[in-house]
Amino acid sequence: MSSSISEDNNLIVAQYRSFAQKMPPIYAGLSLAMACHIYSFWSIVPWVWSVLCPSLLMAGAMVRGIWWFRHRNTPAASDVAQSRLQRATRLLFAAALVVALMDYMAVPYLDLHGKYYLVVELLVLSVVSCVSLIHLRHYANLVAGVVNLAMLYVCWSMNDFYASLSAAIAVLFLAVLHACVISYYNDFKMLEQARREAQRLSSRNAALASSDMLTGLPNRRHFFAMLDRVLERARMKSRRFAVGILDLDGFKPVNDSYGHRVGDLVLCEVANRLTSSLGKAVSFYRLGGDEYAFIVILKGDDAPLKELGQTMISLIEAPMTFGDVTVAVSGSVGMAVCPDMAEAADRLFEYADFALYHAKRTGRARAEVFSPVHREELRAQGAIEQAIRVADMDAEFYPMFQPIVDTETGTTQHLEALARWNSPVLGAVSPSQFVPVAERAGLISAITLVMLRKSTAAMRHWPDHVGLSFNLSACDIINSVMIMRLITEVEQSGVNPRRIVFELTETALLQDFSLARENIELLRRAGIHVALDDFGTGYSSLSHVQNLPLDKLKIDQRFVADIENNQTNQMIVRSLITLCRGIGISCVVEGAETNAQVEALRELGCHSIQGYFFAKPMSEQDVVTYLNVPAEGLNRLAG
Ligand code: C2E
Ligand code: MG
Ligand code: MG
Repeated sequence: MSSSISEDNNLIVAQYRSFAQKMPPIYAGLSLAMACHIYSFWSIVPWVWSVLCPSLLMAGAMVRGIWWFRHRNTPAASDVAQSRLQRATRLLFAAALVVALMDYMAVPYLDLHGKYYLVVELLVLSVVSCVSLIHLRHYANLVAGVVNLAMLYVCWSMNDFYASLSAAIAVLFLAVLHACVISYYNDFKMLEQARREAQRLSSRNAALASSDMLTGLPNRRHFFAMLDRVLERARMKSRRFAVGILDLDGFKPVNDSYGHRVGDLVLCEVANRLTSSLGKAVSFYRLGGDEYAFIVILKGDDAPLKELGQTMISLIEAPMTFGDVTVAVSGSVGMAVCPDMAEAADRLFEYADFALYHAKRTGRARAEVFSPVHREELRAQGAIEQAIRVADMDAEFYPMFQPIVDTETGTTQHLEALARWNSPVLGAVSPSQFVPVAERAGLISAITLVMLRKSTAAMRHWPDHVGLSFNLSACDIINSVMIMRLITEVEQSGVNPRRIVFELTETALLQDFSLARENIELLRRAGIHVALDDFGTGYSSLSHVQNLPLDKLKIDQRFVADIENNQTNQMIVRSLITLCRGIGISCVVEGAETNAQVEALRELGCHSIQGYFFAKPMSEQDVVTYLNVPAEGLNRLAG
């Protein structure tokens, strides 16, 4: 008996569930049987056995029946289920004993019909107890055994052939029923085990589906599910929280240089450092690639939030050693606070992403919290994006040209094409505003193609020695299909590819260094030259200059301001010029506005200069005039 109950907890709970459902009808049946018993025998059998005992049993059965009816669907823990099962089966066993005793005491007062009635009553009770206690095999057998004994005694007392035959058939029938109970019980047990296994597998699948296989962190899917839950709770409890996105800086070069195995180790180490240092206060997720997300409940003002972001960055920045490889990466963090900035999950995420984009654009390794200023910028960018989407590119975008001058000969070497946009909705929009938006919206390539077509068309009016310097976007250089289209466009224009220089920024290279390198090689094979633009502004690295097949370096204008007095800038420019000479590439300095700056640059050995001093960006028509009549700056130079 106890072995059945002491089977494992889940089985007990399952038994209890099934048992609780059956109890109300069993007790109802027992009450009905007792009512019939009283009605049939109250005048024949002494009142103790015909009225008192059945009445007490009926009352008890009704009370228990009502109790079970109320609790039939209430789940119970295994220990509660076990004690209830024990109590219920003990009561049922006691009831079976009382019925058996009652019938035994009634036998001497009954005629054959009365005894047949008892046999039927006991047979029904035996079948009912067998079937209803089917999940508690031992109890079923015990209760049915007692009732059967009483039934056999009644049959024996009848001293009748048909009664003996009925008893034999009943015993046979009950034996078969007993076998069925055993087989059903085993099936029940197996079914329960299978159900539990299925449940275990499905919870395992759910865990796998919501966690990142590489780092073990909860994944993107889990993050968004969690974000919804945290939002709901924050709304109910009027709590503030922040959503953050952390994106690694310099992860691509690690992957490219040391392979994906080291890249994977870096991603795991980052997850490890973040969770082991901040895991108690912050929940971290991996969104994919080198992007992580986090949620943090806020207690006070937002000041510690920026600090928290900086702490994450410092944690990541400490060098990582894997065997004999030591690597260093950094990270940028963008955050948005709920409900201050937004109350919807997708908005919060979008805002955190924008803050991240801002952090990256303004120098990387920074943490930014989305603010009303960002919101205004985002709104403006949204308007720009909409206007680009509906723009008639051919009519609205056009190039202006700015010369790059050889100060030794006083001639124009190249003209840099600089995009201009005259939007009928927004008016004139500068490239520093629309280029990043078009890049983010995946619309830059269409602009690049229009610009290249118009620029090469303009070149037909230029002398052969004047080349075109043309800006490519980060998105263009990591898009091999786009590179092929650009090469085709140059070929179809009829312009000698050697007259064209494509300018790339370092940010472009960082996105996918090896792909950028392959595409640069494709361009150079087609005869096109390649320059690295704005050197010194981004994630500058001299190794890029040395490891890429470049033709030219354009030193950013920030080093030119005050160059005549600023010794540090002089040193930087001088060493970059020396480096370029050393590796056999040419060097241009951008942004020279004054004669003093030009003179200082010439003294440092720089002879290719671009800047307002010579000419501001000019229209296609003005370029023709400029090329025929040298500009004032050039005249002064010649003078
Ligand atoms: P960039 O390629 O470095 O172009 C030089 C920028 O510096 C131009 O600004 C130019 O007008 C400005 N500049 C030239 N000389 C001086 C100077 O002496 N003083 C000052 N203060 N500025 C000077 P612009 O035209 O506003 O272009 C800004 C940036 O937008 C460009 O920087 C380039 O990165 C991007 N851009 C322009 N046109 C295109 C394009 O067709 N495609 C792509 N992808 N980007 C473009
Ligand atoms: Mg440029
Ligand atoms: Mg530049």
